[in-house]
Formats: sequence, structure tokens, C-alpha cells
Amino acid sequence: MPEAAEARTAVGIKALGQDELLWLVESLDQPAYRANQLVRWLYGRRATSFDEMTDLPVKLRETLEERFAIPRPTLVERQVSEVDETRKYLWRLADGVEVESVGLPANGRLTVCFSTQAGCAMRCSFCATGRSGFVRDLFCGEMTDQVALVGEDFGTRVSNAVAMGQGEPFANYDAVLEGLRIMNSPLGLGIGARHLTVSTCGLTSGIRRFADEPEQFTLAVSLHSAVQATRDHLMPGVRAVALPVLRRSLDDYALKTGRRPTLEYALIDGVNDTDEELEALVGFCRGLLCHVNLIPANPVPGTGVTRATAERVREFERVLDRSWIETSVREERGTDIDAACGQLRQRRVAD
Ligand code: SAH
Repeated sequence: MPEAAEARTAVGIKALGQDELLWLVESLDQPAYRANQLVRWLYGRRATSFDEMTDLPVKLRETLEERFAIPRPTLVERQVSEVDETRKYLWRLADGVEVESVGLPANGRLTVCFSTQAGCAMRCSFCATGRSGFVRDLFCGEMTDQVALVGEDFGTRVSNAVAMGQGEPFANYDAVLEGLRIMNSPLGLGIGARHLTVSTCGLTSGIRRFADEPEQFTLAVSLHSAVQATRDHLMPGVRAVALPVLRRSLDDYALKTGRRPTLEYALIDGVNDTDEELEALVGFCRGLLCHVNLIPANPVPGTGVTRATAERVREFERVLDRSWIETSVREERGTDIDAACGQLRQRRVAD
């Protein structure tokens, strides 16, 4: 058996997206609607065995049972913030790989931040995830499981999910899209498309594909500097992406979809919080339908990153506002349990 196929079988049936489930049932001479039944059982009802799927023919259940496992991530560790209600989870996947997710309750809503890869290849200098390197892409079911399991732990419906955990979603585009579709489907997790957000470090081929997707998913782009040299230094993995090319892909995205991409900007003391950087940011945003989300940078050991002062954050907000650029400052959540932006990694507390 080829290596990829072997990995799939170990990960089980939830490695398959909706189109692949359709292909599977058709290859077993079953009508197409069986694929929908499978989606409802696997994701909506969170079945743990094929036996439970009582509206499927017994013969089909037996065949599926022979071919596939229905693995679930197992909980290795769960931490609860003492300053807010944030919870961080470390999961072990079927092959032993570990990833983290975060649950962020607020005002009766629950947002789940999920990982799209174990580790990350992008090596952003201020982020903990890239420091341990890239391990592997996650399958769609491994993403939907993170979201569903966090919802189960809180005992509430998940209202929002953001692909802002470990990994670069557009480096695992197809599986991420399959995952979003199952999260969105009324047969799956039933989360509104606008409440599903993907954050990318700015892979323009992904931004262009995303603009063509029929669903109204939300796009966020980690900009962090509108000065090429600063951005190259902060985000070496996307050095090949020239800022004018990124700007153009965002313009096209906004024109095509009519939706406003978010630009994430982690403010780091003395690096990207200077007047020159601010001016470049305003220039980048001018005439672009966008929303700037300022993130006071979170400390990550070994990176030497210091958060910009509150005055600099306010100054950025003031100048952007004055330039008619929609701006917000991201509220810090779960820093005491290293659950905030940029703090997720492959590590247990005891390590
Ligand atoms: N790879 C994707 C998804 C990561 S999302 C991306 O780059 O967008 C996590 C967000 O947190 C990104 O905007 C990332 O740049 C940001 N981030 C990383 N390290 C951070 C830190 N130390 N402080 C604040 N934000 C950080």
C-alpha cells in the first residue's frame, strides 16, 4: 500500500471530506444520499462506531467497519485560565501526533481556535508554533473533531471557529476547506459560514482560491508589517510574497466577494510599531476594503519579542481611525495558560 494511503487508513474515515465520502459510497454501489447520512452520523451525531448508524444497510456498515476506524483525538491535557474562561486543550491524534486548540467563551458565544497542521513550516520569528518545526498536515476530520470536542467540553453549541491555531491553513488548503464545509453543513456542526474564519500568513494563491469559494467564509491575513524588509525579517516563510502582490490579491478578494478581509498586525516594541511602520500600514490600507486588527504581541520565550507599549497601540488605533481605516484591538485571552495568539506549540506543561 502506498504510504499516503496507509496514513489515511490509520487516521480513519474522517480523513475523507464530503466529496470523498460521495466517491466512497458510489464505489460501494450505494446511492449518493448515503454520503449525507455518513456526514450526519460522523459529524452531527458524533458516532463512535458504524453499528450506531441504524439507517445504513447492515452490509454497508460491515464493509465500512472492515475498512475504517472512527478515531477521536484523545485529551492529553486541559488547562483553564484563571483570569478569563479560556480553556486550552492538548490532543493526541490517531498516529500519536499532538496538537492544541483553544476555547474562548464570551457573551453567550463560544469561539474555538483550531489547528490546521501539527507544527508549522513558516518560522515567523515572533511565534511559538514554528519553533518546533513542521510535523504534518491535519485531515479534515481532525479539525472538525477539535471544534466539536471543545464544544462538548463547554456543553454548548460552537458559534464561531477560527483556523488560527497551529499551522498555515493555506498550506493545507484542500483539507481545511473540507473541514470548513463540514463545520458549516447543517448535517455537520451547523456553524454559519461568516462565523468560520481562516487566518493565513499571506499565501496569495490560497487567497485567490478562497475568493472563488461559494461560501461566505471570513478571511484574515497576518500582515505584521507593510515594510517589505521588516516583514521579510519577521515572516521569513513568506519572503517570496512581495507586498504589492499581496495587496493586489486582497483588493481582488474584496472586489470579487464584497467582503472585508481582516489584516492582523501584532505590535512588537521597536520592530513594527514605529511612525515609519505606521505610515506604511496606512498606505497599504488606503483604498482597500479591510479591517485592521491590532494585536499587542504576546511574549514567547526565546524570541526576544516585547509587546509594544499601550501608548503605541493607542497611537496606531488613533491614526488608522483618523485615516478612515476600520480598526480594532484584539483582547488578550488566556495568556496565563499560554493560549494566546502565537503561544501554541507541541508541548506539555510538565515538559
Ligand atoms: N499561520 C496562520 C495562522 C496563525 S493565526 C497565520 O499566520 O495567520 C495566529 C495569529 O497570531 C497570526 O496572526 C499570527 O501571526 C499571530 N501571532 C503569532 N505570534 C504572535 C505573538 N507572539 N503575539 C501576537 N500574535 C501572534
